Amino acid sequence: MFKNLINGEWVQGPRASRNINPSDTRDVVGEYAQADAAQAKEAIAAAAKAQAAWGLSTPQQRFDVLDAAGAEILARKAELGDLLAREEGKTLPEAIGEVARAGNIFKFFAGEALRVGGEVVPSVRPGVGVEVTREPVGVVGLITPWNFPIAIPAWKIAPALAFGNTVVLKPADLVPGSAWALADILQRAGLPAGVFNLIMGRGSEVGQVMLEDKRVNAISFTGSVATGQRIAAACVARMAKFQLEMGGKNPMVVLDDADLDVAVAAAINSGFFSTGQRCTASSRLIVTEGIHDKFVDAMAKRIATLKVDDARKAGTEVGPVVDEKQLAQDLEYIAIGKGEGARLVAGGEAIAKNADGAPGYYMRPALFADTTKDMRINREEIFGPVVSVIRAKNYEEALALSNDTEFGLAAGIATTSLKHATHFKRHAQAGMVMVNLPTAGVDYHVPFGGRKGSSYGPREQGKYAAEFYTTVKTAYTQA
Ligand code: NAD
Repeated sequence: MFKNLINGEWVQGPRASRNINPSDTRDVVGEYAQADAAQAKEAIAAAAKAQAAWGLSTPQQRFDVLDAAGAEILARKAELGDLLAREEGKTLPEAIGEVARAGNIFKFFAGEALRVGGEVVPSVRPGVGVEVTREPVGVVGLITPWNFPIAIPAWKIAPALAFGNTVVLKPADLVPGSAWALADILQRAGLPAGVFNLIMGRGSEVGQVMLEDKRVNAISFTGSVATGQRIAAACVARMAKFQLEMGGKNPMVVLDDADLDVAVAAAINSGFFSTGQRCTASSRLIVTEGIHDKFVDAMAKRIATLKVDDARKAGTEVGPVVDEKQLAQDLEYIAIGKGEGARLVAGGEAIAKNADGAPGYYMRPALFADTTKDMRINREEIFGPVVSVIRAKNYEEALALSNDTEFGLAAGIATTSLKHATHFKRHAQAGMVMVNLPTAGVDYHVPFGGRKGSSYGPREQGKYAAEFYTTVKTAYTQA
């Protein structure tokens, strides 16, 4: 039984949940304690008690803990990647890559603990000095989704601790294993009791306590739009600081002058890797007339060869969908697309068993063509391996179509035209833009986040993370 971490102690919960491997549903990854509301309050109390001392700890102390955690994560990336692939279903290379990213994030923010600085500014008044400094926000509540079980907790925990905040983490119910491993590593890396607390449990119970408890000064959330809106309302009601990273309906434009192989490789990766379960997945392919038919044919051929199998098996290109509910949602959107008159070019069917006969939540990646911008499959986030192609007359129409969405996380373009690439980088209404590359999310030292309905509040990652995890003070001194 894997327990919660509250005030430096591993604590049993009143309930437990079974972590199931979506590649083989007979395989139980482990039993994980589920905290209740009372334990959530204990975790918050512990974080509140520990905050003053941690906020005054030296940068060296914070560097040492974060650097040690990062080093252990990197040293154990194969083992932790295997756990991640087993509980979430992304392929082993992707899972190991995600773990490495988490390790590097801890190392990056170890350095940021030392680099945090301020400004000395001349005053408009004679004899007066002005200093601008950054201080911790206090207790931060972190609420994370299931699709990046270690990287997203890492990119919230590391800056939170680096800048002197204390933390209560509530990971997603489907993937407690990676969060538990992270808690164990942090605990052994030398954090004082209460500085980092893990409470696994239901969002509606444990998460809700974090939203309502006044001792939680800030909430950083990644997940669905519906939950994000609930979090925003709760935080506004009690004037807590908050940051939301939510859904996407990300476009990738393919122009007539694109290198077809580059475009297909980027579209396959962006649409179907991680089983399409990425907030940055490119689910709308906007393709101009001259290359359209060639591109759709090449995509269909490549989809037919995609190896859908156990996430941990060598050679698997697409693992299972995360659970039964998500698979049902993906299949429902296949039916919706067909009902809207879209042409299903490839895939879209559930596969009950993998090549070895193990039962899992498999699905053949799907491609729709002849779709229009107002179809539900082009407006709503499906969050599965389902991609549609929209035909465009020219670059100008492709750009307009790509921006015609309420989301604004990532956008991509495949082109050999410097003019169009340059114009697209400037005019795509998205937080992240990719040119001739698969969708965003590898570099750990630069900002990550979106615009419009995808995000709210300051960016995550890189030096921009300081905006959320610190509060600025302006001090005036008469010499
Ligand atoms: P979700 O909103 O269902 O859950 C996210 C987290 O919120 C979970 O930990 C959940 O337990 C918790 N939660 C649920 N109800 C709550 C409540 N009432 N109070 C407090 N917490 C509550 O999302 P999910 O299904 O885990 O993740 C998929 C979504 O996440 C997709 O929409 C995807 O686009 C988005 N996502 C966004 C980014 C990004 O950076 N923009 C990254 C990854 C995933």
